[in-house]
Amino acid sequence: MAKGLLIVFTGNGKGKTTAALGMAMRAAGHGLKVCFIQFIKGGWHYGELDAVKWFEGLIDFHVMGKGFTWKSDNIEEDVLLAREAWDFACGIIASGVYHTVVLDEFTYLLHYQMLALDACLDFLNARPTGQHIVVTGRHAPERLLALADLVTDMQAIKHPLASGVKAQKGIEF
Ligand code: ATP
Ligand code: MG
Repeated sequence: MAKGLLIVFTGNGKGKTTAALGMAMRAAGHGLKVCFIQFIKGGWHYGELDAVKWFEGLIDFHVMGKGFTWKSDNIEEDVLLAREAWDFACGIIASGVYHTVVLDEFTYLLHYQMLALDACLDFLNARPTGQHIVVTGRHAPERLLALADLVTDMQAIKHPLASGVKAQKGIEF
């Protein structure tokens, strides 16, 4: 029986966002619609921003909050933006249009308690039948892991940054 899964990619190792992108591409290959929502925008111009143009009509990509790194001095504004971003994601999920909805770096909004955890988990749990949700990010709250059907903890064994290799095109961004 087909079951809509709640999938979490967490942990300190590299590979969470790229795993979600891989899933999006896999679903798109079957003609299944994916909505990829990025809750944090880093400083780089990420390749995926342009790559998804090749998947027009199949992968819809949204970056929430402008230059949004959660390091702002204005916590109230951050919280407001976080709520707006989550409201947007709720609309996407509830629309039932998508086979898979990716909430990239969503764990940070929960970890920093910018959103009410209970309400978020209830909403994810009540998603349209058969819809898959992928959540990525470090510090996934235990209760999200408990609710999830699939959890992968990316373990950092080695990373080139530790030996001074800077972020590279096509690898980090
Ligand atoms: P990717 O987007 O490459 O799949 P990620 O989503 O798992 O990585 P994030 O936690 O979102 O990683 O962090 C984003 C950036 O931090 C990436 O550029 C990644 O290479 C880098 N990074 C991830 N893990 C480590 C690590 N263990 N040490 C140093 N940098 C890391
Ligand atoms: Mg990531």
